[in-house]
Amino acid sequence: MLPRMTNGAADAIPFESALSDIVWPAAVSGRGMASLSLLFQLERTQWWSADRLRERQQAQLKRLVRHAATHVPFYRGRLGTLADAEGEAFWQIWRSLPFLTRQDVQQAGDDLLSRTIPDGHGELSEIFTSGSTGKPIRAVRTDLWQLMWSAVTVREHLWHGRDLSGKLAAIRDSTAGKAAYPAGERLERWGFSTGEIFKTGPCVSLNITTPIDDQLQWLRREEPDYLLTHPTMLDRLVRRSAETGVRPGRLKQVLTISEILAPGLRELCRQRWGAPVVDTYSTREAGYLALQCPDAGHYHLQSETVLVEILDSAGKSCIPGEIGRVVVTPLHNLGMPLLRYDVGDYAEAGDACPCGRGLPVIRRILGRRQNMLRAADGGEHWPLLSSDDIGKLLTLAPIRQYQFVQTHRDRIEVRLQAARPLSDKEARSVVDWARTKFGDAFRIELAFPAELARTASGKFEDFISLL
Ligand SMILES: [Zn+2]
Repeated sequence: MLPRMTNGAADAIPFESALSDIVWPAAVSGRGMASLSLLFQLERTQWWSADRLRERQQAQLKRLVRHAATHVPFYRGRLGTLADAEGEAFWQIWRSLPFLTRQDVQQAGDDLLSRTIPDGHGELSEIFTSGSTGKPIRAVRTDLWQLMWSAVTVREHLWHGRDLSGKLAAIRDSTAGKAAYPAGERLERWGFSTGEIFKTGPCVSLNITTPIDDQLQWLRREEPDYLLTHPTMLDRLVRRSAETGVRPGRLKQVLTISEILAPGLRELCRQRWGAPVVDTYSTREAGYLALQCPDAGHYHLQSETVLVEILDSAGKSCIPGEIGRVVVTPLHNLGMPLLRYDVGDYAEAGDACPCGRGLPVIRRILGRRQNMLRAADGGEHWPLLSSDDIGKLLTLAPIRQYQFVQTHRDRIEVRLQAARPLSDKEARSVVDWARTKFGDAFRIELAFPAELARTASGKFEDFISLL
């Protein structure tokens, strides 16, 4: 297949010139220019065969491994002859490397940091991710790694043909006091990744802890072209909007991040708001892992910046249709190399995509092990709560928010926030619903806590197992 440039929409986007006396063609500024040079390559590499991508990944991995073995105390003596191996022999040794767990990262501390950063990789910056265990993980990234991250951010906009001159609204930040209702926060550009290349429209944001009706009022007032938020928030917004009739009127797409997209939510959003959902799979510590294909509902791994392995319980690569553990290696972060990092998620491997991109496919992301329901017989599965399931639940009582927690082998706590205390009949019907959903073997207990908390990064998990 011939290389194809991205959607025509990109032709219409004005570039941001850094020089006032140069308007056409635009003289893009330093970092934007560096980002464009990566995008120019990504436009081509997405069409490469999976084998060719893998071969280049191996070349980059060897550089990373050599650097880690020499300059990162944690890896000294752990990587053996890996960097000298060729072809299949390399992958064989690679597959024998143990996974790096979140616990390893916490315990290793500074030993995971490189003692030397090569020229050109820029400064280091650190972030903390709360993780579901509540114990934070520190991730240190180089400027160069962030540049790769920026290029993928822009790739995602281009893949989905967005009109960058439009208004983007984000409901994601949970930091107390930030982007507070009613004003929220307003920036002139969509963000540095996109804004230093293109003349974008404004970006407005609102704190995700804002009460739902206020969020809808704010959306109605702002009338954005694009909305970026977490799937659980979108679900609540769409449902509440159907009840009150308050809805944003000109949304072209909804972008979801950071949580699992529940089955049925895409359809619900399209039905009620007339907007398609575009989902992204990323983690804060390892960056973008996969982007939704512009032509299909599944995801393409971002092979140019990260090696993602989907592995079965024996450590073998999953074939299409199999579900396995997600193990990732960001290819360019020499500041704190994560080799075979077990992000804690499970995903289903997919077939090659008919769109022609050689970037491997994952069909769906199933979530973390701690979001699995454990049955009395030892079996485990993800109790994926579809939009239909939730729709039924919400007809039973005036429920505003819900969360399900497996507290014991045979017990599930249904945590609810409701507009008023439930009648006995309503409570019974909720218990019946939960038994149908989770199985007769479970004892269902209702609880009404004052608050259903999000994690520090604003994530909300609708099913948690404490086992
Ligand atoms: Zn595709």
